[in-house]
Amino acid sequence: MTNKSTTRRSISEGAENELGKVYSVHDKGEVELVDYLGDDRAVARAARTSYQRSDGANKESDRKLIRRLWVDRHTSPFEMVQLTFRLRLPIFVMRQHVRHRTASLNEWSFRYTECRELFFVPDLDDVRSQHATNKQMSGDNLTGEVSSKVISLIDSANHHSYTVYKQLLDLGVAREQARVVLPLSTYTQIVWSMDMRNLLHYLSLRLAPDAQKEIREYAELIANIVKKGWPMIWEAYENV
Ligand SMILES: Cc1cc2nc3c(=O)[nH]c(=O)nc-3n(C[C@H](O)[C@H](O)[C@H](O)COP(=O)(O)OP(=O)(O)OC[C@H]3O[C@@H](n4cnc5c(N)ncnc54)[C@H](O)[C@@H]3O)c2cc1C
Repeated sequence: MTNKSTTRRSISEGAENELGKVYSVHDKGEVELVDYLGDDRAVARAARTSYQRSDGANKESDRKLIRRLWVDRHTSPFEMVQLTFRLRLPIFVMRQHVRHRTASLNEWSFRYTECRELFFVPDLDDVRSQHATNKQMSGDNLTGEVSSKVISLIDSANHHSYTVYKQLLDLGVAREQARVVLPLSTYTQIVWSMDMRNLLHYLSLRLAPDAQKEIREYAELIANIVKKGWPMIWEAYENV
């Protein structure tokens, strides 16, 4: 079996360090880099195919080339790098991830297995009002008794749904049918794989201030992994 010391593939030390690390998002979400293909050099090497060279003189020439590619929007070399994550996320955040059609994914099946009692509940200090003018966004935080009441209502709605779900299973209803009573706050899990070009596009959209906070928190952790594993790509992305 090939291991890190014998592989002939170019690996990223930063990405190797990130593999298998589980980061928490809100109280029950998780982000983990489970696999990757290609390091910063894979992008530079692919780009040099244009003029029939395989490698540059040194790291500095790779850095300059990667920056140039990003400035010029010569983006196809960035597709040579692939990242695969395991994400545990509530269904309402999953629905936003699934809109990024250039990702490949496989989701935990509530047909095969029974759903666990694992639901998203916002933090007490993160209960948000509806924005006054922007129909899509949150406004100021609600506070005091109102936010406590909101948390209690969300908690009891989640719990009620799960109790009914279990009752349906006990009555012999198929898992695929019993799940219809589960709320959008239910945690699911996906393996989610994307090439670097499209991942950076995802990050541009989901790190933006108008992205919903709950997906932004996933994007922030993913961005941090990219920064550590692919520092030259990240530098080009961040500074252009
Ligand atoms: C703030 C915000 C609000 C949103 N609100 C809503 C909403 O209310 N309702 C809703 O349904 N979605 C909504 N979305 C999702 C949004 O419409 C996009 O589907 C999502 O952001 C994925 O972007 P994308 O299509 O560029 O990415 P990907 O699907 O990953 O595609 C990447 C790129 O590939 C190309 N591409 C992909 N598919 C096609 C295609 N079929 N034809 C041509 N080119 C293609 C495009 O260049 C695209 O930019 C929202 C997204 C954001 C960030």
